Formats: sequence, C-alpha cells, structure tokens
Amino acid sequence: MRWINPKHELPVIASAVLAGAVISAIALPPTMQALSVSQRVAIVVPVNFALPACAMAIGLVFPLKRSCLIGTVALFFAFWMVRALYRDPAIWAWTPKEVLSFTSPILVVSMLVSCIFSLVAAAGAKALGRQVGRPPEPWLCRACGYDLRGAAGATCPECGHLGGG
Ligand SMILES: [Zn+2]
Repeated sequence: MRWINPKHELPVIASAVLAGAVISAIALPPTMQALSVSQRVAIVVPVNFALPACAMAIGLVFPLKRSCLIGTVALFFAFWMVRALYRDPAIWAWTPKEVLSFTSPILVVSMLVSCIFSLVAAAGAKALGRQVGRPPEPWLCRACGYDLRGAAGATCPECGHLGGG
C-alpha cells in the first residue's frame, strides 16, 4: 500500500488549474495565426488529448473521487477562462449570452468524459495500491482498529483477526 498525504490535494488541484491555463494559452490564436493549417492541426489535436490526459493524471496522482471531479472541472475551467479572457478581457462586462458563446458544447462533453477518465484512473491507481490517507498505526488491528499493544499473540482479542498487529 502506497499512502498519499491528504494535504497534497490542494497542490494537485492548483496544478490542474495551471495545466488548463497553459494548454489553453498554447492553442490561442496569437500563437496559431502565423502557422500553416497542418501546423495548427499539430497543435490542436494534442491539446484535445492533453486535457483528458491531465484529468487521468489527477486520478493517478491523487486517487480520491472528490479531487478527480474538482480537479477536472478546475482544469477545464482554467482552459475555458484563458480563452474567454482572450476573446473579451473585460470580464466585468460579460453578459450571460457572451459567456454562453465562449462555451463550446464539445468542451462540456470533453469535461464530462474527462471526469469519467479521471475516476477510472483513480480506481486503477487504488487497485495498484495507491491510497489517499494516513497509514494505520502498526499497533492497531487492521480489521477492527483495536489497540493491540499489550495483547498476547498474533490474534486480535476483540475480533479474532489473525496477524492484526
Ligand atoms: Zn480486531
């Protein structure tokens, strides 16, 4: 069992925000305009794979359902935000209609699919023994948590679990 410090949740989500913003900035028109069509495709295609890949990375690094969902939404929100700010930096003047026009249905679908990818990756990481939390104290019974200090033998006197200590 590989235990992951629960305090790492915030850095993981912050990294997701950063990744979303960077991926978004890479594919913005100012960097794309001077390029040929094939060069643009060479950027746009990996970008579309990069977001789900980042979502999966969240699940692998920090296999907790809540973090997968928050992290993936944060990733896509940052991606969306950078593009929206590029199109209209006057955030205070955004109308709901404008916000909706920034939001492509493909991005929404991609976010939902990426949430699932992230959860699947987290399930895989858990199956491989990655677990968010603190390792149990070695003197507590693994089955029922009974304090085995001072208990004679390898069997838990509380629940009968073998090799509890
Ligand atoms: Zn026990």
